[in-house]
Amino acid sequence: MTETNPNEIVIVKSENSKINTVDFSNLIFGRVFTDHMFVCDFEDGKWQTPQIMPYQAMTIEPSARVFHYGQAVFEGMKAYKDENGKIFLFRPNENCNRINKSAARLAMPKFPEDYFFKGLETLLRLDSEWIKPGVGNSLYIRPFVIATEPAISASPAASYRFIIICSPAKAYYNEPVRVLFAEKYSRSADGGVGFAKAAGNYAAQFYPTSLAQKKGFDQIIWTDASSHKYLEEAGTMNIFFRIHDKLITAPNNDRILDGVTRKSVIQLAKDLGIECEVRRVSVKEIKAAAKDGSLKEIFGTGTAAVISPVSAFEHADDVFEIDQIKDSYASLFKSTLLDIQHNLSDDKHGWRYEIR
Ligand SMILES: *Cc1c(COP(=O)(O)O)cnc(C)c1O
Repeated sequence: MTETNPNEIVIVKSENSKINTVDFSNLIFGRVFTDHMFVCDFEDGKWQTPQIMPYQAMTIEPSARVFHYGQAVFEGMKAYKDENGKIFLFRPNENCNRINKSAARLAMPKFPEDYFFKGLETLLRLDSEWIKPGVGNSLYIRPFVIATEPAISASPAASYRFIIICSPAKAYYNEPVRVLFAEKYSRSADGGVGFAKAAGNYAAQFYPTSLAQKKGFDQIIWTDASSHKYLEEAGTMNIFFRIHDKLITAPNNDRILDGVTRKSVIQLAKDLGIECEVRRVSVKEIKAAAKDGSLKEIFGTGTAAVISPVSAFEHADDVFEIDQIKDSYASLFKSTLLDIQHNLSDDKHGWRYEIR
């Protein structure tokens, strides 16, 4: 049996770049995609020859397992360009490992690390013009895997497709978000798939989030499914609380996604001498801190928005407004992370990964 080789990517270049039709100063997140995409199929028990081709619609049979049983996992990462045109990823090993952890939980095959890096790097070099320099500009990268076997028996598929698509993202000032602490609905449960970046975790949040939006909130902070007493994460972001000058964030467990931004903020807090406790955080504690004025900040962390400050939360019909303070930890972490990502500061932990 001849093994396929990640170095033998078959490349079909797009004949007409779309780049001149794109207004880079006016980008809506996730709407526009670059000229190329990376595709690799899993068939006959192995990953086949990888391909890069023009971004295009795909033909998948309606009986493909992904449409019926949601066998789908994804990642979210970004590429950055410095003023000298060098391109960087941020801790990409974390994403590669995590997509395989997610895949394993959904009974999907592991995508080899050499394929992941070779595919991603080749794609980024081809579409490098789409990465604009300047802090805040980036190229959002979406690797994902879907079950493609055309047969609707309820069991893991025999064939899969790994795909990477990329979408330019604009520097944006994110408005602080208003959040609701979950009291009824849950995002994940013990022994479930909450720690995996599984497509279905998102589908399950849309309805409760739409109810929260009708009440004037942007997002839900999920609580533990059994008691709804402990704050866990925001569903696209991990969450930090600042009481006095101390940060608190929930520990990882099988209900919470192990965010790269979260673990980077925990490390940066250590570097900056900011105390950060990783422990259970109760709703009661946060409400008490909001009442006595010791709750200084709440912010979310995730690749897409980096750091999102929270301006208000609601629980059991009590609404608490959080004044946005000057010199917040949120803005400190955001600028520190962006400087590392854009090659503007020392990278003492080796988080930058240059695409050569
Ligand atoms: C992707 C994601 C995050 C953020 O993870 P990062 O690695 O920091 O981007 C947080 N929570 C959930 C549920 C996610 O899917």
